[in-house]
Amino acid sequence: MQLLDGKATSESIKKELAQAVKNRKEQGKKIPHLAAILVGTDGGSMTYVNAKVKACDQIGFESTLIRYDDSVPEEILLAKVQSLNEDKSIDGFIVQLPLPGHIDEMKITQAIDPLKDVDGFHPVNLGNMVLNLPGFLPATPAGIVELIKRNGIETEGKNCVVIGRSNIVGMPLSIMLARNTNPGNCTVTLTHSRTKNLEEICSNADILISAIGRPGFVKADMVKEGAVVIDVGTTRVSDTSRARGWRLRGDVDFENVSKKASFITPVPGGVGPMTIASLMINTLRAMELKGK
Ligand code: NAP
Repeated sequence: MQLLDGKATSESIKKELAQAVKNRKEQGKKIPHLAAILVGTDGGSMTYVNAKVKACDQIGFESTLIRYDDSVPEEILLAKVQSLNEDKSIDGFIVQLPLPGHIDEMKITQAIDPLKDVDGFHPVNLGNMVLNLPGFLPATPAGIVELIKRNGIETEGKNCVVIGRSNIVGMPLSIMLARNTNPGNCTVTLTHSRTKNLEEICSNADILISAIGRPGFVKADMVKEGAVVIDVGTTRVSDTSRARGWRLRGDVDFENVSKKASFITPVPGGVGPMTIASLMINTLRAMELKGK
């Protein structure tokens, strides 16, 4: 078994991006600037946004964090999105999801200028992804594909099973891996909560990717000997041995599945850091695409 070390791979990507920033500085060019909107005080969202801001600092990107209270009206958020769309100093921005229930997430996502949508959630970018046209790929699926690529994993002709069909992970990932690209050219099965015979479908997978948020759901008897296993799930579970009282658990029963897998991602330290690295790649591209 080989560990698919997303932390190490993301560190290499960040070094490459830091070099690109250094080169741009030497040429007197603009430095990429990422803005993030965070609504409320959800622990998970705050952790993710802080990690994104920290990655910007590490690479040398500029970053701006905009915070709102949970009760922020939708119109205020939409107005902020509009002002970021128009702000020439900002190359790309994200609105950290989930948003409070009174705000229509799709409305906010659709208000973002597709050329600044570095999370790749706008319908225009998702459409470009489907057609294999230039645009921004959603950060988590793009990070997974990059992890596969940089670890030399062959995907062509492989049976790939994705568990979970969310708009931000499972659905786009299934399309990216089925496209005529490298990595890609997989025969993909996209599964969800209504799928019948899930265990049997999973046990035929050469590449098994779980993105459902159910700790320990993927058991060893669902996994083929030698499969590549990628765990997107991150759920906070209680852990009284830690000062903060919790730890992150993935969807995969790592202890037992790792005995059968050829490659496997850990949680934490697998897909999470790759998501951030992808966001940074998209931010640099957002600036380059505009010829800055
Ligand atoms: P989500 O919106 O929470 O949706 C969950 C998906 O899992 C749905 O498609 C659901 O099916 C499916 N599902 C739930 N129970 C199932 C079951 N028993 N069998 C088969 N499918 C089942 O998904 P998400 O936002 O992609 O999040 C999934 C997990 O990934 C969460 O733990 C999240 O924290 C994590 N995540 C991690 C990263 C990262 O960077 N590491 C990024 C994003 C998300 P239905 O559609 O039928 O309801």
